[in-house]
Amino acid sequence: MNTFMLEIVTPDHLVYAKQVYSLTVRGAEGDLGILPGHVPLVTPLQVAPMTIKSDAGVTTVAVHGGFIEVHKDKVTVLAESAELPSDIDLERAEAAKERAQRRLQVRGKQDEIDHRRAELALQRAVTRIKVSTSKGQQ
Ligand code: ATP
Repeated sequence: MNTFMLEIVTPDHLVYAKQVYSLTVRGAEGDLGILPGHVPLVTPLQVAPMTIKSDAGVTTVAVHGGFIEVHKDKVTVLAESAELPSDIDLERAEAAKERAQRRLQVRGKQDEIDHRRAELALQRAVTRIKVSTSKGQQ
């Protein structure tokens, strides 16, 4: 079966680097499936779990924004932050989710920027919780 190199990089470190069979990411316009030989492209990513198929089975990674670059034999994901299931602190994510939900419930004086920030924090927390609780799939 054909493979390609996948690298997931954040400003801090290299999160993942392996030959993979396929991956699915949430692009700006919806889910994007990448198989070997995909046409080159660069597109922004949403905050969402990414699914990777490799010899190791199915792995999910919490990817928080950034970009995907598809080249001929290599795909690079540049994200603000990204975590493998084993790196996720579930309690911290649950606490961040509750905090964000509380902020979203406060109506009235709150300005739009705070609201957007809370929405993004909620998306990050929900993504982490999904990835952390899908450990069994690996
Ligand atoms: P929190 O409010 O808990 O800090 P956050 O969504 O604001 O969450 P980020 O700004 O996205 O956090 O991330 C800051 C750093 O902390 C990144 O390196 C990220 O990988 C790490 N991080 C955030 N939440 C978790 C978590 N639940 N488990 C493991 N690492 C996390």
